[in-house]
Amino acid sequence: MLGRRGVAQPDQKGEAVMKKTLLVLLLLLGALLWSFLPQRLDVPQPGVITLPPGPAGVPVQLAVMHTGSMQAKAFFAYRGGGLEDREFGMDVVLLKHPRGLLLIDAGFASAWPQHLAATPALLRTLSRTQGGESAALQLAKVGIQPPQLAGVLLTHAHWDHVSGLADLPGVPVLVNAEEKHFIEHGGEMSALARSLGKLNYQLYDFEHGPYAGFAASHDVFGDGSVIVVPAGGHTPGSVIVFVHSGARVYAFIGDLAWQHEGVDLPAERPWLARSIVDVNPATVRADLAQLHRLAAANPQLLIVPAHDHRVMQTLPQLAAP
Ligand SMILES: [Zn+2]
Repeated sequence: MLGRRGVAQPDQKGEAVMKKTLLVLLLLLGALLWSFLPQRLDVPQPGVITLPPGPAGVPVQLAVMHTGSMQAKAFFAYRGGGLEDREFGMDVVLLKHPRGLLLIDAGFASAWPQHLAATPALLRTLSRTQGGESAALQLAKVGIQPPQLAGVLLTHAHWDHVSGLADLPGVPVLVNAEEKHFIEHGGEMSALARSLGKLNYQLYDFEHGPYAGFAASHDVFGDGSVIVVPAGGHTPGSVIVFVHSGARVYAFIGDLAWQHEGVDLPAERPWLARSIVDVNPATVRADLAQLHRLAAANPQLLIVPAHDHRVMQTLPQLAAP
């Protein structure tokens, strides 16, 4: 209703503002819900990429340690996921190479509840967390003490991958320069790594050329058996670790995808999850598409997301003697 001179009255202005606000909120809610719907990523097809063969006669063995887990809905892990619960394993991989014992990531420490309390509140409300035995404790049970480890190779420095470093004092922590910078200046998402104090960081470069379609590579033992490639996007210095073990090749992809559907479909995380955990979703998308192509062309390759417990359970587990 207009006033005597055709000017909107205060109650009409208030009503108009409320309608606009409601419309914006509905649009935002719609966009949020849309981001959970199935949508497969585009996969460019510029030719088949074959994996380089591993070295002959280098026996590399693997053993998985389960240090804890989170329960979250599948729809939170990848676009098109359902309402069912998924177990996000906090698993550590022990590589037994003739030249040394190497861990991929560190899982949960014995002090994981204190570490969890330092993480973003939104992440804590979207999942339920349980702890298990730390990697250090499980290694001790099979007679391996921290000084016997050649290092811990981080796929990235988020809290659930570095927590267990607290129980592995003095063990070299292998990171690239970009991830080291993220640890030092990465805000809330790398706060736990900073809070662990002075760790024995050892920086590596990507001194070799392209590998499996990724731009550069680092050969950990110098024999082609364990190759690290840059795959930033989840964090700036995230990596994929390729491990040749017999006829099998494993790609430990960290958190590029939380569940294997992320690579199989391929499908990225929904917007809400991406906006919390990924620094560059476009790079994550490109790397997922690349891994999808690689897996399709190389049946000997098993893609292992750090938190897909279903996949981790198919690998050899660390067993007490
Ligand atoms: Zn992460």
